[in-house]
This record gives sequence, C-alpha cells and structure tokens, in this order.
Amino acid sequence: MEYLCLTEPHEIGASCHGAICGDEAVIVDSGLHPKMKGYDAMPPHKELKNYDVKSIVLTHSHLDHVGTIPVLQSKFPEANVFLTPPCFDLADALLHNSVNVMTSQRNELDIPEYPLFTHSQIDEVQERWQMRDCNRFFDATDNVGIYLQDAGHVMGSCTASIYHDGKKILFTGDVQTQDQTLIKGADIRAEGDYDALVMETTRGASPRPEGFTRAKEEARLAEKIHETIANGGSVLIPVFAMGKTQEVLTMIHQFKAQGLIPDVPVHMGGLSTKMTTIYDRHAKKSRRKAVGFQILRDMDVKVARKGKRGPLEYRPGEIYCLSSGMMSENTVSNLFARKFLPNPKNALLFVGYADPDSPAGKVKAASSGDMIALDEKSYKEVPLKCSVDDFDFSGHAPREDLVQIAIGSGAKKIFLTHGDADARAWFKAELSQAMPDSELIVPEKGKLYKI
Ligand SMILES: [Zn+2]
Ligand SMILES: [Zn+2]
Repeated sequence: MEYLCLTEPHEIGASCHGAICGDEAVIVDSGLHPKMKGYDAMPPHKELKNYDVKSIVLTHSHLDHVGTIPVLQSKFPEANVFLTPPCFDLADALLHNSVNVMTSQRNELDIPEYPLFTHSQIDEVQERWQMRDCNRFFDATDNVGIYLQDAGHVMGSCTASIYHDGKKILFTGDVQTQDQTLIKGADIRAEGDYDALVMETTRGASPRPEGFTRAKEEARLAEKIHETIANGGSVLIPVFAMGKTQEVLTMIHQFKAQGLIPDVPVHMGGLSTKMTTIYDRHAKKSRRKAVGFQILRDMDVKVARKGKRGPLEYRPGEIYCLSSGMMSENTVSNLFARKFLPNPKNALLFVGYADPDSPAGKVKAASSGDMIALDEKSYKEVPLKCSVDDFDFSGHAPREDLVQIAIGSGAKKIFLTHGDADARAWFKAELSQAMPDSELIVPEKGKLYKI
C-alpha cells in the first residue's frame, strides 16, 4: 500500500489524498482551494493518470474537501463515491451553489474555465454517490475495505480508514473531538495498529488560553449580545453557511430559553437557509446534543428571502446571523455591513476564522474609526465605529486532542497536512516526544510514500 499526496500540506487548500492499493486507487476528498481561482484552485488530478481510481471517499462537505469531486468523477466515471447520508445532502447543496458562484466569477474575474462543472453534471455524477453510515465496515471493491467514523467537525463529517492487503491508513479529514453546541464531538476508536495516519494540523499553532471552556465562551457571547441590545444596538454575526450558522442559531435559542438575552428577532440569510433546512432534515438521525431540535421549526428565525432586491434592512435591537463568514464581496453579510459598521451602538461578533485578505480579516485587523473597504471595486469606504469582538467556537480539535488521536492510532508513519508551518512544527515536536518510534512526515504534493 502507498500514500499519494495530492494536496499542498502547508496550508488549508484543496484537500485531496490517495491510497494506492495494488493496481487501484482510493481518493479521499477532492477540494477547491478557497483562495485560488480557476485551474490553480484544483488538486493535481493529472498525478492520477497512471492509476485506476475505483473509489472516492468524502470526509465532509466543506468546499476545500468536496469542491472538485464532480471534476474527479468525470475523469473516473466508474468510481463510486462513499459518503454519509447528511454529507450527501450538504455536498449536493454546496456544489450546486458553487456552480452559481463560479458562473458569476467567470465574467466578473475573467476565468474562462469556470464553471468547472454544471448543475446537470452534478446530477449525473450523483448516480455514483453511495451513502454509508459510520461504524460499519464495508467492501469498496474486492481489494479494499473502508470504515468511517464520526469526526464531529460538521454534520455528517467522518474520518476514513482504508484497508488493503493487511495494511490500513487512517485519514482524519477535519476533526473536532469536543462537543460543539449542536453537534457532538468525534466518536473515533483507533485500535492502535494503524500503519499510517494522514492528519489535519489546523490548530497546531493556536493554543487555548488557560481555563478556556466552550461554556465560558458561550456565556461571554450571551453577555455581549445582551449588553448591545440593552444599549439600543444590533448584533451582526457573520457565519459560514454550513456548520457555524446552525451552531450559532442553536446558541441563541438556548440563550433565550435561559433568559440570558431578550427574545428579540433573529435574522438569517444567504446560503445558510438551505443548509439549515438540511441540518433540520437530519435532526433525528445525526449525532447531536439537542436531539430532534429543528432550527427552522423550533425557533422564530426571520429568513431574508432569496431574490429580494437590495441589502437586508437594518433595525436596532435585533440579531443578524448572516453568511458569508468572511464577509466576502457580494454576500449578505458584506452588503449588510455597510450600514452596520458606522453605528457605534452596534456589535460585530466574529465566531470563526477569517482570512487576513478577506473583508472580515480587514475589519479584525482595523482599529475603531478606521475606514474599511468592504468592496474593492466600488472604492466606497465606511468608517468602523461599531464594537468588534472575536469568539472561539472552532470546529477543529484542540491540538492536544489530536496528539491523543495520533497516539491512539499507533501509526508507524504520520503525515502532517492541512495546517501552516508553525502548526506542523508544533505537532512534529510533540509527536516526536510522544511517539519516538513513528516517522513524522510533511508530505510533498505529487509524491508517493510506501506504507
Ligand atoms: Zn472542514
Ligand atoms: Zn478543511
């Protein structure tokens, strides 16, 4: 068995990994790079030209893991794609949305190869998508077995163990070991006899402050919302459509039930609504803390209707959970921020990662009173007068927990991916102490490693 690295390990880019099993290949994820455009945003599928890809596993439906699955499938039309039932529905919605985004970028940014696939191509390749539950071993082909386990990152996320010829590799995908507000933490049991582990290192350079707990962070958020509303302002929480939206809405529901914040209107908009509908559809079947809780049924959320002209109307004393999380241009959160930022009574609350080059990243780096360009093209700047706060509700495991997963796997070879140089350096130092007999490798894109 061999591991073929098809991703740039030095960053969170277009995730893609290969397990070479004799004369066939299993591919784990095929993402789209969130910062690059066109063909540059794709994994190097050309490296697969000498392999027979018979199986593809999808660990979860974030764009950096699922974004180019239809392209890969068009090259290997006979390959089956294995994924969990919630991941199936979320990936379907995300890919169709991605076609719309790429289609508008084709003209705006002059990228002739966009869209990389069409709506009808997604429908076509879906015939090969096969739903599999976690914790049930299955044969992908005569030569390859696969075992998925819940990764606790977003609904339907999983790790993938690939078995072939007496060897096995564990691919973590993106993992959160600890319970979030809605989604339960990972449910991973490693038997300690893995030959290799391909692991994410996202939080390697992000230690948590002493005494950090999610409950305390939730309490801090509730207090900030309460204080802002009491002072006559509104709250804007830019959220990723899938995962963070549903976590934050569940928090707000609980804050209201506990009397921590007043029962004020909550708005959502953008792609979030579609994703929330899918979260609700799987309310009883996915691993979650609030079993059966359905956001759109059990909460009075005001949904900004699709196709409604102009930005969402601003009202004082209300809560706006709007995508995108990075306030990217032309998204609901970006358009809404123009009227929101200049009001000193308002609070802009970040609950997730923002790339430094994104509008959200620029706001995070700015000081009160600075002029912010939310849209590069219009050159209209707005003054940042509202308060800005940052909260840690990460969907990624604390680094110490990932070290425990590595130790639990007993892997003889550990490949460090999905993290920056500082993150990988921390894991290298920790794991070389904790697992002195294991080989720690930062894999190179396009290179093959014997397992
Ligand atoms: Zn992810
Ligand atoms: Zn990722």
